[in-house]
Amino acid sequence: MTDGKIKIVDTTLRDGEQTAGVVFANREKVRIARLLDEVGVHQIEAGVPVMGGDEKKAIKEIVKLGLKASIMGWNRAVISDIQQSIECGVDAVAISISTSDIHIEHKLQTTREWVLESMIKAVEYAKREGVYISVNAEDASRSEMDFLVQFATEAKNAGANRVRYCDTVGILDPFATYDRVKTIRERVGIDIEMHTHNDFGMATANALAGIKAGATHVGVTVMGLGERAGNAAMEEVVMALKHIEGIDLGFKTTSFRTMAEYVSLASGRELPAWKAIVGSNMFAHESGIHADGALKNPKTYEVFTPEEVGLERQIVIGKHSGSRALVVKFAEYGIQLNDDEAAELLPKIRSTAVDLKRSLFDKELVYIYEDALGNRA
Ligand code: MN
Repeated sequence: MTDGKIKIVDTTLRDGEQTAGVVFANREKVRIARLLDEVGVHQIEAGVPVMGGDEKKAIKEIVKLGLKASIMGWNRAVISDIQQSIECGVDAVAISISTSDIHIEHKLQTTREWVLESMIKAVEYAKREGVYISVNAEDASRSEMDFLVQFATEAKNAGANRVRYCDTVGILDPFATYDRVKTIRERVGIDIEMHTHNDFGMATANALAGIKAGATHVGVTVMGLGERAGNAAMEEVVMALKHIEGIDLGFKTTSFRTMAEYVSLASGRELPAWKAIVGSNMFAHESGIHADGALKNPKTYEVFTPEEVGLERQIVIGKHSGSRALVVKFAEYGIQLNDDEAAELLPKIRSTAVDLKRSLFDKELVYIYEDALGNRA
């Protein structure tokens, strides 16, 4: 894999907001942009200027914040779209057009030649305006490879800074991703951004595969928000790069949980307990063997610390608990259990958890203790 030159492009405000049923208020968009900048995102795709109205106002406000991150506007390969982006003051534009025959024939109802021509005209226009240009090959995964290479080559020749490889329908696996991205890298030699969707649960894996094949940028959203099953999640990509691939982008990961909570609130989309990296269950241990291991040394069952992403470790007492976890839990209440007492309480606690079909609250544990052992103290 390459070094720390990988750039994170966040599209929570564009693809994330395109999630069916999601709308951000302008102040929410501005706040999300600030949060993204604070954690270390390199480029923020702030929206679609040609939509006008509030969308355009929000993008202008974000530009005015003067953030460290580059601010990008999303456009079709249409000059009037790009004019709207320029008017907002963005320093970067995404120019998007489909490259698969299924899209060209059925959606655009045109020809490959028209696609190339429109893209080149749009890129040349943006180039004259002096902005950074990403040319997005929509539905790249289902595009014929030779045409995709030709498209990327002509984009490069027209002055594009990178090509966005869009796995628009999330149809690739990591092996196919690797092969296709490597081919473009070798045959065209332009920067490539991975834009992967999670329809088969492989968005993050495919983004990493693209990086291994030489991609330089990764498009992400907070908690994977996005069309249908969503995009690659920022927190997953950044933490996987750091802990699996040894590439530390220097992000302020301690804000990841807070940021996910805010985006969850603003989008009205649940942040599931089992969400990778930022879910509240990431550091909750209940089973006797796991809790015992985690209490002796957290590294036995945790790859990174909860603090690193703004979470806390929780030992949960329930059906699967063991006596060691009980001793530690009761010590939090100021009650020192000996081994015999823990052994006596354990079956009562387990059967209560089965009756209630859940783990137990602190108060419930104390009541069980008082009923069984309280008088002895
Ligand atoms: Mn997308």
